[in-house]
Amino acid sequence: MDYHHEVLVVGGGWAGVSAALSARKAGADVAICEKTDMLLGAGLVGGIFRNNGRFVAAEECIAMGAGEIFQLLDNLSRHRMIEFPGHRHASLYDVVKVEPAVRELLFRFGVTVYTGARIVAGKTADDGKANDMRLRAVKSEDGRWFRAESFVDATGSSGPMGICRIFGNGCASCIQRCPAFGPRVSLSRILGLPEFMSTRRKGSYGAMSGSCKLAKESLDPEIVRELDERGVVVRKLPEHLRNKNKNKLNMKACQQYALPEYADSLVILDTGQGKLMSPYFPLDELRSVPGFENARFLDPLGGGKGNSIRLVAASPRDETLKLAGADNVFVAGERAGILVGHTEAIVTGTLAGRNALLHARGKPLLEIPTRLATGDFIASSTVTPDGKGLDSPFTFAGSVYFQRMVDLGLYDPDPEVIAKRVRDCAMDGVFA
Ligand SMILES: Cc1cc2nc3c(=O)[nH]c(=O)nc-3n(C[C@H](O)[C@H](O)[C@H](O)COP(=O)(O)OP(=O)(O)OC[C@H]3O[C@@H](n4cnc5c(N)ncnc54)[C@H](O)[C@@H]3O)c2cc1C
Repeated sequence: MDYHHEVLVVGGGWAGVSAALSARKAGADVAICEKTDMLLGAGLVGGIFRNNGRFVAAEECIAMGAGEIFQLLDNLSRHRMIEFPGHRHASLYDVVKVEPAVRELLFRFGVTVYTGARIVAGKTADDGKANDMRLRAVKSEDGRWFRAESFVDATGSSGPMGICRIFGNGCASCIQRCPAFGPRVSLSRILGLPEFMSTRRKGSYGAMSGSCKLAKESLDPEIVRELDERGVVVRKLPEHLRNKNKNKLNMKACQQYALPEYADSLVILDTGQGKLMSPYFPLDELRSVPGFENARFLDPLGGGKGNSIRLVAASPRDETLKLAGADNVFVAGERAGILVGHTEAIVTGTLAGRNALLHARGKPLLEIPTRLATGDFIASSTVTPDGKGLDSPFTFAGSVYFQRMVDLGLYDPDPEVIAKRVRDCAMDGVFA
């Protein structure tokens, strides 16, 4: 074997980064294998956090002792506590500055990161001890073997190109950069275990990513000034473009932004570049809107035609995030259900990473109580082995799950109330 770690995390998006940090903080020798040359995956192009129920989830994590990433994001926020249609107390982190800062955080904690390590194969143990399959080692495309006691599958659910062609408008050259670094491969797939596609869209599968990045310097100086000052710009669309825009919103992964305001207007947020809250926008039409005459897409490069397709690879698991059918593999982020969002990836990553370590040391696994929003979210977003739980994307920020938070009285964005609830559940500092 080339390398041996106690816990190995495959995929270095927000889920993988959080899993590694969580395992490391509890004393694990932990490494991340990431297929590209940068960490954060889809987190390289998002930026919105703390909006709506995500505020509660972030504060619960902080109270449970898993606050490092949120503190880093707060420090990197270009705007805090802003409002935009349908969303309150949102923060916007700088997507240009975030990746080196996260690497530095992991380095400081002692997490090993292997970039250019696309995992394509694995070996299971044949020791007859476990009912479920036990993964022993995985192999990267360039021939390196990585052995570990337990694993976290944090490979996300984006693309690859064939999926974007079948269920979307083709490869739009997004941040996942499949043509350069190779397609996503999950541990479930390597183990021959089932994974499921979201079925929300009638007659089709998956969902299209819901925003694009425009180069700020390609926008009218007045728009840039407003973005810098307020963090958000809303411009009414000409009548003939409104209906067309509405149809696009139904395809979105993030239904929390599929509101009438987003069909009638261009909504742009300042995440270092201009985050256009539409899955794609034909360039000629965009350039017909005053102030956008010279607009240019930065991500996806084909943002005039389409965007990445996601939510096509959820793995059945339980409330500890243990992968069904595997003894020592945990899942996090978009693999752990039809889940959307950085915060959602960080929450599930934190639990999966900690449980991977507990499992490696033969200790009882942790569950987050359902009296907390983070625990209830994990429990209610489970995909079962017979494929239940696939018809609505789960996010703290809106749609079905945010409504559930409100109904259950779990949405009160007061950090003291949240910290008290965490203490009452005896969960304060568990991830510290
Ligand atoms: C355009 C866009 C805008 C978004 N905006 C927001 C936003 O503003 N706010 C928000 O909360 N959410 C946003 N989201 C959603 C959010 O980014 C994702 O839900 C979340 O970041 C998913 O994290 P993840 O770690 O599960 O997956 P990913 O971020 O997809 O990470 C998976 C990682 O695994 C790697 N990988 C895959 N296969 C392998 C393999 N075999 N070996 C090694 N590595 C592998 C990939 O390269 C990738 O880095 C946005 C998403 C997109 C696409």
